[in-house]
Amino acid sequence: MTCSVHLDRRPAGTCQNCGRFLCWECAGRYEPPTCPSCLQAWRQATRSTFVRHIVVGSVIGVLAAVVALVPATAAYWQAVAQHDPVTPVYGLVLMGVVVFVLYACVPFGWAALAKLTPRWFMVLPLIGWALYFAVKVVVSAVIGVFVLPFAIHTYVKAMSVH
Ligand SMILES: [Zn+2]
Ligand SMILES: [Zn+2]
Repeated sequence: MTCSVHLDRRPAGTCQNCGRFLCWECAGRYEPPTCPSCLQAWRQATRSTFVRHIVVGSVIGVLAAVVALVPATAAYWQAVAQHDPVTPVYGLVLMGVVVFVLYACVPFGWAALAKLTPRWFMVLPLIGWALYFAVKVVVSAVIGVFVLPFAIHTYVKAMSVH
């Protein structure tokens, strides 16, 4: 039995993921002990998940911002036409940005929810599913705002190991 990296060294631990033997130096390298190939796999999985969430989140964010801004802008122009703009134009911009950021966090919150909640199968009518989906999106957005910093932290950590 030898370290799976250093074939001339005695094992002092095992990879927490695949159980390969690791020498004292390799086992102490990362916490928990992880072999180079599992570390590489984790790195790639973390990167592709993060990029996918950012891309999907941006699309959802743009859609949500458009949906929110269309009626708000119409109301704004109507107020301008009546010489009574209650909301300043930067209010619209701010609203667009807030809605975009909130909904861009949906995939992060969605993934966190998927880990927390069991996958029940529910018998619901179509309207029930639509409602369930809508509630889940909003809950995901709120949770996502808090999950995002951790997701960024994990991503940066994954990218900095070699
Ligand atoms: Zn391993
Ligand atoms: Zn080693």
